[in-house]
Amino acid sequence: MGNSLCKWIKGVTGTLKVPVTFLKVPGTFLLSLALLLLTACGSASPRTFSGEQAYAHVLEQCALGARPTGSPAIRAAGDAIIAHLEGWDWAVETQEFTYRDTPVRNIIGRAGEGPVVIVGAHYDTRRSADQEDPAQPVLGANDGASGAAVLMELARVLDKDRLRHQVWLVFFDAEDNGGLDGWEWCVGSSYMAANLTFRPEAMVLVDMVGDADQQFYFERNSSPALQQELWDIAATLGYTTTFVPEYRWTVYDDHIPFVQLGIPAVDIIDFDYPYWHTTRDTPDKVSPASLERVGRVLEVWLEGP
Ligand SMILES: [Zn+2]
Repeated sequence: MGNSLCKWIKGVTGTLKVPVTFLKVPGTFLLSLALLLLTACGSASPRTFSGEQAYAHVLEQCALGARPTGSPAIRAAGDAIIAHLEGWDWAVETQEFTYRDTPVRNIIGRAGEGPVVIVGAHYDTRRSADQEDPAQPVLGANDGASGAAVLMELARVLDKDRLRHQVWLVFFDAEDNGGLDGWEWCVGSSYMAANLTFRPEAMVLVDMVGDADQQFYFERNSSPALQQELWDIAATLGYTTTFVPEYRWTVYDDHIPFVQLGIPAVDIIDFDYPYWHTTRDTPDKVSPASLERVGRVLEVWLEGP
């Protein structure tokens, strides 16, 4: 059942409260019908994370070509993200600034109420495939598009009435030019963390999450308790071979500026990806099933089981 229909039914049942007492039989019938429909609405999340839908977002982003910070392609990718968020009734805000004469834009989609949790991903791609051919850019199907695609599909499927927090879906710019001509890593996320006016309750980063050959290990800069919580959710969903509760990587990524503020933060990253920072980071290396596993874990974390 669709979200909008459920909302309409909830609205109708709300307006029925008074008239029902006067309408007697027809009112009782209407109330029963409404309660039946409400039960159907409340029994499960109306939408479940779809790997195929997320994969379509990987294809859309890659169709724009490489999307390095400051390029027309990343501007178009960002505009598409904003349109998508607004289309699913998320409140959108951008953070725009200049870094080394280059325009940078973080995009934030907000929904729900209560303490803030951030789910982040970078959406820029590395301007040099320096693991292979530095003159070429990285298309970034996995390193860039996969995380942003998961966030966009979350924007579609999350049931805002069930969110246990205010959720910020954050698309970071300027993560991935680190080490090129003196650029730093994680420029967009550092800017956001430096300009926070409150303390988020938690931050979860998804980066390089779409590899068809997917394994997520514990990452040493991440907060152990939150990491364990997420991997426990994965286990309840049966993802024990992909979410492996053993330490493997130590990664400097967009979660670090939040870790440094003392905010519990976790990087969900599959760093064992042979096409990393090469021209071969293309959509054929990404699978819908991999995107779906990550999305389902986040969906349960944000909405509850
Ligand atoms: Zn990268």
